[in-house]
Amino acid sequence: MSETVDARPLPAPDPATAPYWAAACGHRLSLPRCEACGEFHFYPRPLCPHCGSPRLAWTDVSGKGTIYSLTVVQRAPSPAFADMVPYVVAIVALDEGPHLMSNIIGCPADAVRIGMPVRATFLDIGAEASLPLFEVA
Ligand SMILES: [Zn+2]
Repeated sequence: MSETVDARPLPAPDPATAPYWAAACGHRLSLPRCEACGEFHFYPRPLCPHCGSPRLAWTDVSGKGTIYSLTVVQRAPSPAFADMVPYVVAIVALDEGPHLMSNIIGCPADAVRIGMPVRATFLDIGAEASLPLFEVA
């Protein structure tokens, strides 16, 4: 499932995050995985935070997780978000281990709870960008 809007600021990929955003454009959630110890991590880093290896490979993950923490934004931080309030900013604990900050959509903001199972969905913005978001599973 995806939606298309044009108001939000576009991602600004750099060499460290370009694979993440490229995967998102294909509606895939991809994270760095260590080829030495097998652990995933996020945010992207040049060395595995678990074992220190530089042997990392971007690997698609399930997009499944649970809400670890959340806040409900009541006041838009810029006009681009004015139509969204109230909305949920959450830390999602992915089944593969890493935690990721995103929005929870498709559910009234005051009904979202810590511990809810969620799955990734993607919001297309502009012509060449897509945001990984989450919906209650
Ligand atoms: Zn490692």
